[in-house]
Amino acid sequence: MSKVLIIGAGGVGTVVAHKVAKNPVFTEIMLASRTKSKCDQIAAAIGGNRIQTAQVDADKVEELVALMRSFQPEIVINVALPYQDLTIMDACLECGVNYLDTANYEPKDVAHFEYSWQWAYHDRFKEKGLTAILGCGFDPGVSAIFTAYAAKHHFDEIQYLDIVDCNAGNHGKAFATNFNPEINIREITQNGRYFENGAWHKTGPLEIHKTLNYPNIGPRESYLLYHEELESLVKNYPTLKRARFWMTFGQEYLTHLRVIQDIGMARIDEVEYNGMKIVPLQFLKAVLPDPKSLGSNYHGETSIGCRIRGIKDGKEHTYYIYNNCDHEKAYQETGTQAVSYTTGVPAALGAAMFVRGLWKGAGVYNVEQFDPDPFLAELGEQGLPWVEKFDIDLEV
Ligand code: NDP
Repeated sequence: MSKVLIIGAGGVGTVVAHKVAKNPVFTEIMLASRTKSKCDQIAAAIGGNRIQTAQVDADKVEELVALMRSFQPEIVINVALPYQDLTIMDACLECGVNYLDTANYEPKDVAHFEYSWQWAYHDRFKEKGLTAILGCGFDPGVSAIFTAYAAKHHFDEIQYLDIVDCNAGNHGKAFATNFNPEINIREITQNGRYFENGAWHKTGPLEIHKTLNYPNIGPRESYLLYHEELESLVKNYPTLKRARFWMTFGQEYLTHLRVIQDIGMARIDEVEYNGMKIVPLQFLKAVLPDPKSLGSNYHGETSIGCRIRGIKDGKEHTYYIYNNCDHEKAYQETGTQAVSYTTGVPAALGAAMFVRGLWKGAGVYNVEQFDPDPFLAELGEQGLPWVEKFDIDLEV
């Protein structure tokens, strides 16, 4: 029996609110965000007076502290933007509240993801007997939990890991991003990076690509990106000889992205415009379709999983574990598309794992450090069923 505070009322926050509202383990729910009217709309769509709402600027620790002191949640689910991770963690420490997020901290002025900023909070959370759960969306999130499950049940040693993320959906727009455009464009326009033989190797942005076949979808061009869960997985599974992340993009999307970069609209530094300072990428976000609005006309599926090679009983084996999620079904249930759905479902389930005492430990943890079994036992019934394939050609 537990009180939960959700921060962020975007696509992911909408799904988290729906899922948390259905779970009786959460006795009281507060949804807070920068724009309260968005929280009110979500609460009204869910109905039953299940969700209270509030306005908060999560860049301001004092506002977060005031909200946490008055509501007194057991856990915060942070589905605002990665820029707010540290202020929310600071407020949690001040108020004795546990923490969960889906994306690692990024400073606003550099597109750079790494866990060091949040891992540096470990001792402070531990001393207060509090838990911070990092990266509990799909990727990061389920991707790392799939890896933990493979290591626990199917291998003595996992050696090669390829996380493969395909969105084969079609929303009928010339160009749109599936989650926050600013965060998404910062992620995919930076250099690629992968881990091999004990070292990180850098590539140009989207330089390495190959065609991979996705279940129920078929062949899709897949591009090597740096993705944050690689950092924690390489640390937590030192037997890994190689770890990479691949994501699919269509030609049309890549052409638009190239033009956006070429004309300077992906810049994250301030420029002078009509006597005021604006950040081109933030302005672009204001004119691109809101990811939340894509759902009503979105067809097709996402397919995200882990392709793993390693050793069991002295022999080499391969293993593929994945989920396919249908955009239309996600929309029917929550009013959002599959990318928000696949992120929000694990965040709500991770918080339930914590309040039910199935995931515990004082300090700051990545999701693969918890027991994957109870989480995966319920992931399917929460809307994200998963499939395993053994000793197949992994194509990577
Ligand atoms: P949206 O942009 O749709 O939503 C973000 C929400 O946070 C908005 O409601 C916004 O408010 C609110 N917000 C922004 N700044 C503040 C602030 N200072 N104070 C309070 N609220 C604020 O993003 P998404 O829902 O698409 O993504 C949410 C998070 O999920 C992001 O961190 C993203 O990186 C992560 N993500 C993780 C994935 C995974 O698999 N791990 C996949 C996809 C996303 P307002 O409405 O006023 O703008």
